[in-house]
Amino acid sequence: MLIVSPDENYIMLDVNEAYLSETNTTREDLVGKSVFAVFPGNPTDEVSKNIERTYYSFEQAVQTKQPHTMSNYRYDIPVRGTDEFEERYWTTTNTPILDENDQVIYFIHSPRNVTEIYQLQERERAGVEALKMQRKQLYATFMQAPVGIAIFRGEDYIVDLINPPLCEIYGKTVNEMLGKSVFEVLHHAKGLGYEQLLDEVRLTGVPFKAQASAAPLMRNGIVETAYLNFVYEPFYEDDGLISGVIAIVTEVTEEVAAKQYIEEAEERARLAVDAVGLGTFDLNLLTGEMSTSALFANIFGFEVPVAREEYIKAFHEDDLALWTKAHEEAKEKGVLFYEARVKWPDQSVHWARVEGRVIYNRDSEATRILGTAIDITEQRKAREEQQKLITLVANSVDLMSILRMDGTNSYINEAGKKMLGFTTAEEVLNTPISQLHAPEDYNLVQNEVLPTVISKGQWAGRMHIRHLQTGEVFPVFNNCIRINDPITGEIIGIGAVMRDQRPELAAKQAIEDSEQLLRNITTAAPTGLWMSNASGSLTYVNQTWVDWVGLSYDSQLGFGWLESILDQDREKVKQKFLRATVQQQLFEVEFRIVHVDGTIHWCLATGKPQYDKGENFSGYIGSCVDITEQKHLQQQKDDFIGIASHELKTPVTSIKAYTQILERMLLKKGEEMEAGMIRKMDAQINRLTNLIGDLLDVTKINSGKLQFNDRNFDFNELVQEVVEDLQRTTEQHQLIENLENIGIVYGDKERIGQVITNLVSNAIKYSPLAQQIVIHTQLSDNEVILGVEDFGLGIAEDKLNRVFEQFYRVSGDIQHTFPGLGLGLYISAEIIKREHGRIWVNSTLGRGSKFCFALPMRKKINK
Ligand code: ADP
Repeated sequence: MLIVSPDENYIMLDVNEAYLSETNTTREDLVGKSVFAVFPGNPTDEVSKNIERTYYSFEQAVQTKQPHTMSNYRYDIPVRGTDEFEERYWTTTNTPILDENDQVIYFIHSPRNVTEIYQLQERERAGVEALKMQRKQLYATFMQAPVGIAIFRGEDYIVDLINPPLCEIYGKTVNEMLGKSVFEVLHHAKGLGYEQLLDEVRLTGVPFKAQASAAPLMRNGIVETAYLNFVYEPFYEDDGLISGVIAIVTEVTEEVAAKQYIEEAEERARLAVDAVGLGTFDLNLLTGEMSTSALFANIFGFEVPVAREEYIKAFHEDDLALWTKAHEEAKEKGVLFYEARVKWPDQSVHWARVEGRVIYNRDSEATRILGTAIDITEQRKAREEQQKLITLVANSVDLMSILRMDGTNSYINEAGKKMLGFTTAEEVLNTPISQLHAPEDYNLVQNEVLPTVISKGQWAGRMHIRHLQTGEVFPVFNNCIRINDPITGEIIGIGAVMRDQRPELAAKQAIEDSEQLLRNITTAAPTGLWMSNASGSLTYVNQTWVDWVGLSYDSQLGFGWLESILDQDREKVKQKFLRATVQQQLFEVEFRIVHVDGTIHWCLATGKPQYDKGENFSGYIGSCVDITEQKHLQQQKDDFIGIASHELKTPVTSIKAYTQILERMLLKKGEEMEAGMIRKMDAQINRLTNLIGDLLDVTKINSGKLQFNDRNFDFNELVQEVVEDLQRTTEQHQLIENLENIGIVYGDKERIGQVITNLVSNAIKYSPLAQQIVIHTQLSDNEVILGVEDFGLGIAEDKLNRVFEQFYRVSGDIQHTFPGLGLGLYISAEIIKREHGRIWVNSTLGRGSKFCFALPMRKKINK
């Protein structure tokens, strides 16, 4: 403390120790001296005005007689022995001391050194300032940061702070966002899990990071998917509590899109490579290492990529040299190309086409080849096929040419050149097609052929061409097609295939000639000739038949010929013909036709089944002979026989009666020998009677007058009667009966007896050396069967079926020694047929025969 006099010099009167030490002074420095002389102002301190302020405080204290205080003011202290000052801050009170007259005697100047406190305060203030500054800067940074930042507070995530970049990302303005729940504003993001993420960060304090997360955002009126990288950090209050979340967001939509685009482009490229079956490889020429795609391996027959050596081993040995050469050339040319065969592990051979690009380093040294491989086996095959096709075309016997649109040919094959008289290929190119035709024929080419091919794509037909050298004009069959550009579809040429028709025409002429000859022959033949197909339809009749019936050729085809047949015969012929066609058997039928002049003629038609190369029945070829004359003669013969036998019958009957009377008379007279002769006569008369009977029967059969008298009779009884009678006529043969119980049969007993008689007498007659004849009866399938078996001459196989024909007798030396007319079996067969039965024979020449017939047990009454 200082005691200072109140006069204007402010002389220091006294001082205490504390003051001295505070101000680095001694008592001598101060006492009796003016305050401001000892403590002058610091010339470097221009702002504090400490001298003025101290004067003022002193004056105040003196004038007001009240203590005056100055707080925290700067008053620097000179540093002893230097010109320097020491910065000091003070809080000082100047307290006036009064006498009894209330006059200021002196005042006490008591400064307190507050430098440290002041400096402390100052620093604090500066600190606060700096903090403020920092805040400001932070806010500026925050607001200008290129990333989006926001603070969401409370459990509703009210936007407390948000910077423009984030607003931009969200597609909102700052004002739209501030003070509102972020989900209220960005309602498209509601319910997508962001709430939970924020809650998690707010409640646990663990930050959350997301990369390229897709978020739906409404921007410019459109909801779009934005890809965002974001971080959620907890927002701590001063007290350490988490009151919200700081979100730091950057949009990476473009990067994601770009990445997707690249990925897609890569995928597309990969797909494209895969789709065309391209295998890829990367060969390091320095190390020899090669990496390949799976497809590349596949092309070489491997399932997965293998080492380069394996691939090399796969090459067909004949193509290895080619491969080496391709690689050598590649280093110079910069591109690798070869097509080589590779042998797969299964030994199958495939073609591969390998292409690559060589990559060089700075020293122009080839270091790498990048390339592709493709399986071209199919292509190769196609090329080979094409080659074959070309060979085929070149060697074709037909003319093959390609016409350019300028009217000249670009190609004519060898056959064509020869056909047209071309000698060089150049000639082909330079000769306009107009020269290849006679002028009158070229009209057709110009006006029909070419326009049709161009408009319709094709023309086929006959035309004439001209030989360039000889000038001969000859016909060809031409087949032209338009050739289109496979890409644009525009016409690029016309292909023609021409066949020289001269040989064909010559052959046709020959055929026609021979056909004419044949036609002449068949027309000249007095026989009808015909052909039918497999279904029985007539396909040909000759002129003879047409002339007979006087109808058109066409009207006779199919089934038209039947109309030419007499009504009474038509159905029979039709049925027989159709049956024969179905059974594919020889066909033979007799019928009557009406000739154009109205006369009725008998015909015998026969047909022989025909078979095609595949052994399939193809119909008949047949003839039709006019048998009217024969029929006429036969009729005359029948009539004669009829009349003759009828006329003979009466006298023979009388003769027989007289012989019997004569025999009895002679016996009475005891003329035994004469009677014996008469008996022999009677036997001969019996034979004569039988012959006449047979002849009469035949005429009856032929005229359809054979009578039948059907009734029930015991079959075996009949057999026994007949056998008994016949046993009497032979002493040599023993007739053995082998009869099954048959019972009653319905039929004409006499006629059936006649058949049995005939069979047994034949058996006796044609087995002159045998002793036995077996007659047996049998029931089978409601049929009664009778068989007569002998052990005599037998009948040759080829004659078996003919023995039932009228007047047929087996020829041969022995046979002719037996009497007969060849009518017995014919009559028997007719009888059996009329009784609805069957008759047949089995025989072996020299061994014997067995004649059988079968009759139905019950004949239908209505027949
Ligand atoms: P015919 O006996 O009057 O000549 P048939 O019609 O009875 O006439 O017989 C026809 C022909 O069949 C005979 O001529 C004969 O050649 C032959 N034939 C018939 N029966 C027999 C038989 N049992 N054995 C050998 N040939 C026979």
